[in-house]
Amino acid sequence: MKLFKKILIANRGEIAVRIIRACKELGIRTVAIFSDIEKGSLHVRLADESICIGPANSRHSYLNIPAILSAAEVTDSEAIHPGYGFLSENPQFAEACATSGITFIGPTPENIRIGGDKAKARQVLKRRGIPVVPGSDGPVISEETAVKIAQKIGFPVIIKASAGGGGRGMRIVREEQELSHAFHMAQRESLAAFGNNEIYVEKYLPSIRHIEVQIISDGKNVIHLGERDCSIQRRHQKLIEEAPSTIATAKFRKKIGELAVRAAKAMKYHNVGTIEFIVDQEQNVYFMEVNTRVQVEHPVTEEVTGVDIIKEQIRIAAGFPLSYKQNQIKPSGYSIECRINAEDPEKFIPCPGRITLFSPPGGPGVRVDTAAYTGWVVPSHYDSLIAKLIVHGKNREEAIAKMKRALDEFIIEGIKTTIPFHKKVFNHPDFIRGNFSTDFIDRMSNGNV
Ligand code: ADP
Repeated sequence: MKLFKKILIANRGEIAVRIIRACKELGIRTVAIFSDIEKGSLHVRLADESICIGPANSRHSYLNIPAILSAAEVTDSEAIHPGYGFLSENPQFAEACATSGITFIGPTPENIRIGGDKAKARQVLKRRGIPVVPGSDGPVISEETAVKIAQKIGFPVIIKASAGGGGRGMRIVREEQELSHAFHMAQRESLAAFGNNEIYVEKYLPSIRHIEVQIISDGKNVIHLGERDCSIQRRHQKLIEEAPSTIATAKFRKKIGELAVRAAKAMKYHNVGTIEFIVDQEQNVYFMEVNTRVQVEHPVTEEVTGVDIIKEQIRIAAGFPLSYKQNQIKPSGYSIECRINAEDPEKFIPCPGRITLFSPPGGPGVRVDTAAYTGWVVPSHYDSLIAKLIVHGKNREEAIAKMKRALDEFIIEGIKTTIPFHKKVFNHPDFIRGNFSTDFIDRMSNGNV
């Protein structure tokens, strides 16, 4: 068995840089792709080769399947790493790679299909005995059915798009009169955003934690790398992630880890993925969804376990077995990640533009995953994540102290960033105590905590 000689990275920004780093350490040559406004980007500079695949609009570049496959063919790339976002959860892309004789570094098209159909994933896993949030069994076609389900489970409920992602396509409905309007709006929004109007209904649980488990499977064995707590969110989008979770006892970790492994086995999962759960105040665990890609927040798991998740992805795609057994995974210390976005820190409005000075923090226990540099122009066409600031300490207290000093050291001039927002969170007594749930940011912004 051999690793690939050359991999094309079908992505941009920090994740493209992260994948190039893993490839270099594995002795694999890399090909970067870029849109015509990104010729000077760091991922292009760091890769061994690069190819322009289209104009700035990602529909014609980073989402352009024929252009990407041609780029792989002309460069003799044996495999494609899709990163996250863009084509990473597109089953047709995974299939098209296979048809062209190129290995897609990720799960099977069937895994991706189930992961992308949240109503179906719920149904499949519920039947396999995995607890799911009370709600509909599969998609809900009519408003009448939605009303019946909501009456049965009780308000508030949350209406979700089966194809939804990134916190989009969800609506909380607090009373029956609001349901009809919300149902039709959710269908329309989902159709516009995801080209599919299938929706489903769940009970809306207050004061919950979002806890997810990283899994890795080589098709024969499945292991988990412990949990990440991603409860610090704004509008259902993650801003700060940590591992382990402050609510996880050894018993809880074992329980949620085993549930994740069971879910992965039930799906015949292959390669790396994440099983997302919500956990209520009584520590009841409910499956929420499967993410069939490497996630933005994977570094916190890498920091506490020492496992290089990207290298594992590549090795498994090349046919190697898992490098670890479950009993070799022993999380140590505590890691936290802040997503630094090019956004206004109060209103979170994107703030693209030229970075006139970029000086990242460093020192013991500090990691910065970024593609930014002094002089780089943050494009307005893509997401606003410009850096991930990750710390690792021997315990949560030390990790928080490191994050505070790293946030103070981080200099980004020329554009607005969310650094001031993160400083507020890291000085908040409830966050420091580990006393929070997914509504923490909304409550903090309204002055309620
Ligand atoms: P997405 O795929 O868009 O990220 P998820 O289904 O993973 O959507 O949900 C995103 C977030 O929305 C969760 O982390 C949680 O904060 C909130 N959420 C989702 N479902 C529920 C629920 N049933 N009750 C309360 N909050 C929920």
